[in-house]
Amino acid sequence: MALRALLCCLGALWLGRPGLALPPGPAPAAGQFWHVTDLHLDPTYHITDDHTKVCASSKGTNASNPGPFGDVMCDSPYYLILSAFDFIKNSGQKASFMIWTGDSPPHVPVYELSTDTVITVIANMTTTVQSLFPNLQVFPALGNHDYWPQDQLPVFTSKVYNAVANLWKPWLDEEAIQTLKKGGFYSQKVSSNPNLRIISLNTNLYYGPNIVTLNRSDPANQFEWLENTLNISQQNNEKVYIIAHIPVGYLPFSMGTTAMREFYNEKLISIFRKYSSVIAGQFYGHTHKDSIMVLSDEKGSPVNSAFVAPAVTPVKGALQKQTNNPGVRLFQYDPHDYKLLDMLQFYLNLTDANLKGESNWQLEYTLTQTYDIEDLQPKSLYGLAKEFAALDSKKFMKYYNYYFVSYDSNVVCSDLCKAFQICAIMNLDRNSYVDCLKRYYIKHNL
Ligand SMILES: [Zn+2]
Ligand SMILES: [Zn+2]
Repeated sequence: MALRALLCCLGALWLGRPGLALPPGPAPAAGQFWHVTDLHLDPTYHITDDHTKVCASSKGTNASNPGPFGDVMCDSPYYLILSAFDFIKNSGQKASFMIWTGDSPPHVPVYELSTDTVITVIANMTTTVQSLFPNLQVFPALGNHDYWPQDQLPVFTSKVYNAVANLWKPWLDEEAIQTLKKGGFYSQKVSSNPNLRIISLNTNLYYGPNIVTLNRSDPANQFEWLENTLNISQQNNEKVYIIAHIPVGYLPFSMGTTAMREFYNEKLISIFRKYSSVIAGQFYGHTHKDSIMVLSDEKGSPVNSAFVAPAVTPVKGALQKQTNNPGVRLFQYDPHDYKLLDMLQFYLNLTDANLKGESNWQLEYTLTQTYDIEDLQPKSLYGLAKEFAALDSKKFMKYYNYYFVSYDSNVVCSDLCKAFQICAIMNLDRNSYVDCLKRYYIKHNL
């Protein structure tokens, strides 16, 4: 016991200093994996005096302060993406795998892209990862932008599904390749962790703007496949990490809006509840912001932890005030039961990096330390969310600053804003979410 505690503290000491190589000695107690998402490469990005022409992704709007690492009006220059992966490579952190939850192409009008350009961008990103990390197993998931036209991911085989199946072959086995080709999803054992399985869902099939799946109860039969896969994992005593692009649950910045169509959200929640003892974590992208969610069972007990990772791209819309700094994150887990222990969020202060002309990726926060919680288990996160809900909670103020990856330390969340945030953290299904908002409205007279 004493030895374990010591190892744990040593681990914390090392990890508190990103960039330093681990000193020789006993292996760290925790397993680790990286999570990167929403790279959104804009190949047109270049520095020029005419700020309307810096990048296609600004759609004719002036870039605000363009530098070598990008601009908040633009998607990522290749240099920014390379700096993120370089940081990961040289961080000195030992990771047994990486998850990558999609959206490689830029936000540009549909007619500026094509199936071939989308495939080229995904291939470029895949090759970048494979050449920098030749020995690391990577688990990708498709995003709504990883298709042309965007959002319209199909329920049967397509040129894009075939292309990514080929590109991602080095990381996946034959069965995974086959389901990826058919429907854009797969399950795959982690090579270095024999009882851990990654299930990569194509939740873009459930995304509101996807008209291909309108009126379909089980697009590409993914629900049926998911239940079967979870069932087999349960029988084989495996643990599962769910990864996908579009998250389950409610968007934390608006009232009553699920990230995917509500019908599909309810369906997914019911499957996740049924198999919550098999699922050891859920990891998403798409919102470009940093948020947590706790799934509770029908009786209200927390049963699953879910994490939405912030984007590498710093892009924002012309009318938005806030955006995110570029971020990547490292999870720590117990290698015996795959329980999530901690998460380290790293970020690039974009303004700073552009000013100095160098990428000073650094630790933004460590989840257990910054919020003084024990681990990332559903109970711990549920307790934290309850603390957030308290009036003038300092912890919530921190959470809201980290939500934008420390883009603006003066950002303030109104009472209504806070109600949406808290209810989205704690309630993933319609009934409990509506209840939560009602209670919040009554309590705070909103
Ligand atoms: Zn995105
Ligand atoms: Zn997306």
